[in-house]
Amino acid sequence: MTVVTRFAPSPTGYLHIGGARTALFSYLYAKRHGGKFLLRIEDTDRERSTQEAVDAIFEGMAWLNLKSDFAEIYQTQRFDRYKEVIGQMLAAGSAYYCYCSKEELDAMRAEQMARKEKPRYDGRWRPEPGKTLPPIPDGVQPVVRFKNPLEGQVVLNDLIKGEIAFDNAELDDLIIARGDGTPTYNFCVVVDDWDMGITHVIRGDDHVNNTPRQINILKALGATPPAYAHVSMILGADGAKLSKRHGALSVTEYRAMGFMPEALLNYLVRLGWSHGDQELFTREEMIEKFDFDHVSASPARFDMEKAWWVNHQYLKIADPAIVAPEFDWHLRRLGVDPANGPDLKRVIEQQRERCRSLVEMAEKSKFFYAELDGYNEKDAAKHLNADGAAVLEALAALLEALPDWTAEALHVAVNGFAEGRGLGLGKVAQPLRVACCGMAVSPPIDQTLFLLGRERTLARLKAAVSYVRSKS
Ligand code: GLU
Repeated sequence: MTVVTRFAPSPTGYLHIGGARTALFSYLYAKRHGGKFLLRIEDTDRERSTQEAVDAIFEGMAWLNLKSDFAEIYQTQRFDRYKEVIGQMLAAGSAYYCYCSKEELDAMRAEQMARKEKPRYDGRWRPEPGKTLPPIPDGVQPVVRFKNPLEGQVVLNDLIKGEIAFDNAELDDLIIARGDGTPTYNFCVVVDDWDMGITHVIRGDDHVNNTPRQINILKALGATPPAYAHVSMILGADGAKLSKRHGALSVTEYRAMGFMPEALLNYLVRLGWSHGDQELFTREEMIEKFDFDHVSASPARFDMEKAWWVNHQYLKIADPAIVAPEFDWHLRRLGVDPANGPDLKRVIEQQRERCRSLVEMAEKSKFFYAELDGYNEKDAAKHLNADGAAVLEALAALLEALPDWTAEALHVAVNGFAEGRGLGLGKVAQPLRVACCGMAVSPPIDQTLFLLGRERTLARLKAAVSYVRSKS
């Protein structure tokens, strides 16, 4: 059996991290078993679905590199198929027309409530042997209901939650097509999972109560129900329902905050799943190790600090070539042209120890690619003074005469200069930093000057000297 899993978001909002985790689990499970993963857009709710949300889902999935093994699938393009199956069920007697008007259903409900009963459809249009159905009223567009078994149980062996039994007596005859003929949500899911050969349905546990209904419909269609894994929800660090304040943001917002996609996935996989106490996983390791035996049935807690920690660990060890395109994106967001400066990979290598986000890295690296838009006020006050200017002027002459602009040559020159003048390295390096970077923090000074390049360095040293002079 080839494992086929799916991620089936409704495009009524952005792809948030809870959804991304569900997608990741589905993806990993399929890949782990050499199977296939598909993305299905459940857009039958025309009022709540938007193109913007569809685009955001595709954008988020592409950024996370959770690729579907199939072409794009939209439920709205499958209406003919749903109609066909409804027709078959009506013909086979596993579904029936119900002509109850809204008023009748409301009255039914009110009576049941008055009798302190659970409101439910009373089966008045449900055909049974020997039963006479009411006369068909004029002008009512009937809905189609599924003929749910009246007795027995549906036993779900959930891969995460274990066995859950549902009494059929508790399940209504579900409406599978509305009066206007459009199929309803649970029904579309069933037909899709069946047609697409889904072997494992992995989804949020807010869907647990839909599962027995879906299993019954699948059985009525003669299909073997897939296995189910209902993933617990994610709570905030304080144990409350995850909200924006806790980090319930869209995947795109995580990108804008400076996360690497692989790091975000790494953080998400650990939300509910564990492999011993290992925290950091490559994608290959996640695929190799992911299983449902180690997915917790209780809710996971989202911890933003830990997410940042994972991102930082990732940045520190990642191949700079993989980080570079994302870093490029962040520099452009700052209005900087990444082509106008050193190789991004070299800058990443120099910056990653001190930056846990790519936003931070871009802000601290902007000076490599764009002219300075002034100096950090405090740093300038401290380092760009008469002493600093004297140091910078002498250094400018020294560096201008360097035959090779290499990190080694710069190291020797700057250190030699400080020693020669009997100055601590800070007294030399800090004015240099403020002059070249606009602020007193940067990678090691030799690397900084090397990456900044000869022309830019010399021009900035001279500009800093003029700046000091113009003030005095
Ligand atoms: N479309 C549903 C949702 O976005 C998911 C349905 C499913 O996975 O079965 O919540």
